[in-house]
Order: sequence, then structure tokens, then C-alpha cells
Amino acid sequence: MRAVVFERYGEPARVREVADPRPAEHGVVVRVEATGLCRSDWHGWQGHDPDITLPHVPGHELAGVVEAVGDRVSRWRPGDRVTAPFVCACGNCPSCAAGDQQVCERQSQPGFTHWGSFAQYVALDHADVNLVAVPDGLSFATAASLGCRYATAYRAVVQQGRLAAGEWVAVHGCGGVGLSAVMIAAACGARVVAVDISRRALELAREFGATECVDASDGRDTAERIREVTGGGAHLSLDALGSPATCAASVNGLRRRGRHVQVGLLPSATGTTPVPMARAIALELELLGSHGMAAHAYPEMLRLVEAGVLRPDLLVTSTIPLAAVPDALASMGTAPGAGVTVIEPWR
Ligand SMILES: [Zn+2]
Ligand SMILES: [Zn+2]
Repeated sequence: MRAVVFERYGEPARVREVADPRPAEHGVVVRVEATGLCRSDWHGWQGHDPDITLPHVPGHELAGVVEAVGDRVSRWRPGDRVTAPFVCACGNCPSCAAGDQQVCERQSQPGFTHWGSFAQYVALDHADVNLVAVPDGLSFATAASLGCRYATAYRAVVQQGRLAAGEWVAVHGCGGVGLSAVMIAAACGARVVAVDISRRALELAREFGATECVDASDGRDTAERIREVTGGGAHLSLDALGSPATCAASVNGLRRRGRHVQVGLLPSATGTTPVPMARAIALELELLGSHGMAAHAYPEMLRLVEAGVLRPDLLVTSTIPLAAVPDALASMGTAPGAGVTVIEPWR
């Protein structure tokens, strides 16, 4: 099959022929119809993820058709339209038993712990636990965008963030996950403050339901401006980018008893992130993390997508062939495009 491969961290990836994957006895091989390009892929390519071994094929947001199934898979057959969370759970550990597959103790992640979906085929583990059926009415490009960013945003806003109608929510960083969060929060009836340094990203945020936009590049204190426009601070705030500056601004922009959810990755390779804990104590803030979403939690989100309440399809701003991935991956570090880029490996 053809795949995007990198041999060294930070050096150009290239498209070449590699061996087709085979399914594990509990796993499947999926023919990739669409796969999203995410900032986490860039982190992996930069060498920020200790799970990766070289050479490597990135890609963890995917949708496609089951091509082959292992002997111990009972719920899936070749031809099924599927997607999967980027955290593939084991199904057996105490976290999985508690329903928390998104923090499984023996998880695998395509594109990190093994070769991912920037390829014509990808192997996924423990298919009975991790695959999610893609409804016929949902395109593969849209389904691919659910796997990491949209589902992560959904869990961050609805489940971890417990957002209620009428509350103020601040979203720091309006890339794929941030714009997803803006759209989901607006659909929940919240008032949304979008924060970014890109005018185009803020325009999209406004289109997707943000009522206030804060340009974090204009030299003023971002947290102070959020406290101003929200009349004292956001009830819920998400760091959807993942940086010391956005994390601190998110926590500092909260009102008393507010909730911060860390969504953007803070890779250990880039150092420990300081958090304003004095404010957390004085204001009784809640500091939470959000790490994908378990497969069993998808149907609630998919029902809202099918009903047209949530429109992840609107986030897909470009589709590219496999050959364009090396350059697109490199640009995620400095100039990530607004919205979501989806790769179609068969093109
Ligand atoms: Zn991702
Ligand atoms: Zn587990």
C-alpha cells in the first residue's frame, strides 16, 4: 500500500510503498477513505511523543471500510463503514471496566503506538471495543473529523465541562478542536468567547456561533479582556491549543468556581506547564483534562450530528491527496490552515 512515512523526526516525510497491515486476532484492518490532519500528528513528527518508533506512519483521525477482521472479532464484518476514537482501549483493565476507555491503562493509538491512517490501510486493535458505526448519511470526510478533535471537544464541553445553557464559555485557540468546541458550546445554548491570534480563525469562530471574539495578538491581557466581556469571567474555559500562555490565560479568565478544561496537548518533551494554582485555590476553580471520548459515548454525539444540530462537515475546509501530506504536515507547526484538512488516501 501507499503511505506517508517519516524516517527521522522533523525531516520531510514522503509517500512510498510499504507492506499492507494484517489484523490482530481481536483487531481489524480498515481501508482508509478519509483521515484528518491534526496538530498531534505534527507533535509526533517533531519527536514530542515517546510512543513513536521510527520509521513511522502518522494519522489518527480516520473513517473507512472494514477490509479484514481477526478471528476473535464478533461485531464487525468486511464492508462495514466505521470510525474509531484515537484512543483504542483494551476493554479489560479497571478503567475500561468503569466505562472510561478514553483513559485505558493499556491503550493503543494509531499513528502513535503503531502505524496510523496516512495510508491506504490501517490496523485497529480490539475492534469490538473501539469501532463506531458510521451512519449511511454521514460522509467519510465528516466522520474522520469526529475521531479526535470533534469527539474530544464534545467530551470537554458537554461531559467534563458540564456546560449549561446561558453560561459563558471561553475557547482559547480556534483550530480544529477549538472551532469544534465553539460550535458544540453554541449548540448547548452557551455564550461563547473565541480567542485566537488569527483573524481568519476568529471569523470562522463567529460563523460557528461565537458571540465575542478576542484577538490575543493585540498586546492586551487576554484573561482581563475575557473577564470584561463576560462580566467577571467565563463559567467554563478550554485551552484548545495547548501552550503555557493559553493554559494560564484560560485559568485566569475564569470566574469564581469556574471550570478549566485542558484539551490541547502539552507534550512532556516541551517541559512542564505552570498553572496559576493560587487563583485555583482562591476562586475554588476546577481544573480538568479531556482525552478523547470512548466509543460507547459516540451515539449521543452522532444523534446530534444526524439531526443537524451539530455540523462537523462545516469544519472541513480542505481535502488533499496523500501526496500533499508531507508539506501540509510541516505547515502545522507554523501556519496551520483555518478549519480542518482531510486527506483522501485513494486520490
Ligand atoms: Zn488529533
Ligand atoms: Zn483498558
